[in-house]
Amino acid sequence: MSDTQASQTPAVQSDQPQSDQPQNAQPQNAQAQTWRDDFSRVLSPVFGSPQLDLVRGEGVHAWDASGKKYLDLLAGIAVNALGHCHPNWVKALSEQAATLGHISNFFTSPPQINLATKLHEVLDLPAGSAVFFSNSGTEANEAAFKMARRAAGGGRPIIIAVEGAFHGRTMGSLALTAKAAYREPFAPGVPGVVHVPYGDVDALAAAINDTTAAVFIEPIQGEVGVRSHPAGYLTAARELTRDAGALLVLDEVQSGVARTGSWFAHQDPEIGEGVVPDIITSAKGLGGGMPIGATITVGDANTKLLEAGQHGTTFGGNPIACAAGLAVLETIETENLLTHTRETGSWLAEQLTAVDGVKAVTGTGLLLGIELSEGHDAKAVAARALEAGFIINPVTPDRLRLAPPLIVTREDLVPFLDALPGLIAG
Ligand SMILES: *Cc1c(COP(=O)(O)O)cnc(C)c1O
Repeated sequence: MSDTQASQTPAVQSDQPQSDQPQNAQPQNAQAQTWRDDFSRVLSPVFGSPQLDLVRGEGVHAWDASGKKYLDLLAGIAVNALGHCHPNWVKALSEQAATLGHISNFFTSPPQINLATKLHEVLDLPAGSAVFFSNSGTEANEAAFKMARRAAGGGRPIIIAVEGAFHGRTMGSLALTAKAAYREPFAPGVPGVVHVPYGDVDALAAAINDTTAAVFIEPIQGEVGVRSHPAGYLTAARELTRDAGALLVLDEVQSGVARTGSWFAHQDPEIGEGVVPDIITSAKGLGGGMPIGATITVGDANTKLLEAGQHGTTFGGNPIACAAGLAVLETIETENLLTHTRETGSWLAEQLTAVDGVKAVTGTGLLLGIELSEGHDAKAVAARALEAGFIINPVTPDRLRLAPPLIVTREDLVPFLDALPGLIAG
């Protein structure tokens, strides 16, 4: 945004009602056109044309430059666990920035050790378990991919992943992501990855053998519209990998950090079926808006995998991101957000199920998929929602995804629930 534009941006009042529209639409449209032009002149087109230019956030709301207020039901794609600018999060990262911002991995810092310790605690990790910090979900999976290559001394070339899963966009994680449209433009991809059909235990059993290094599974597939696995699938995956001497990697980049009302989704007995993985990957909600990823090895998985010098990242585990992550985990505890997420999520799912035009509601806690009944287009519904001041995500042609901040209340959600039938009907 140019200086001129910034100075023309109207002051935003936090108490502005949702329906407050710009009084004179003409200059606002002109302004919207200017930031779109600015964007396309200086930024990469890979994300398509941005829908909004957001300038401020507070709790479950965000505001655009015209002062229009939005209820944020996506939270930066399951990232802003505490909502926008939570005071604990702001305090933790600004105090850390004023104390020690970056040091490299030749050194460590208290936030890094404290966050890792907290992750050990919430995951109830056995001795020997270890956290490797990076900066994103794809990096967390990339590290797990490299660990898998080193499993069994490097003598097992094959990694198995499941159709419908999303694991990231860097070359290793991309190879794990089954969707051909994501991978094919970048062929040749990283070799040695086999994709098995979703939900098919027999296919998994047939694919696993003594050449298998690891099986990667998202406990809940987010990008395909919030889909969990059939009962027994994770249990079978654990038994099959254990019997074959392969690692079980759970990608909890989206489903972790209280999103489902458990610290990590696999700790929910209905989702995880009591399964203990060898590696857990995390990112998104972990930093509450600061970039951080984590690859967590469980028990002695660590000792078989990466050795000193085999992997690294300059920014991984930097004090500011770790301080933010610690604030997220501590606030989830002090504000009782696990229970709150479970309760609010099941109430919300119940309300959504009763809405005309909703065929089914999937997911757990505050990671929900809304499957629309036939004839409704998720993209059009999301566009109407945005116009009405609600940020939701059309994740497939017939599914919407909701991943609101974990602090969202029923009261916050009522305006959306009231509007939804009209948004679906069009
Ligand atoms: C978002 C996501 C990733 C990739 O994370 P980035 O931070 O975008 O690299 C990987 N796995 C899952 C399950 C995700 O939802």
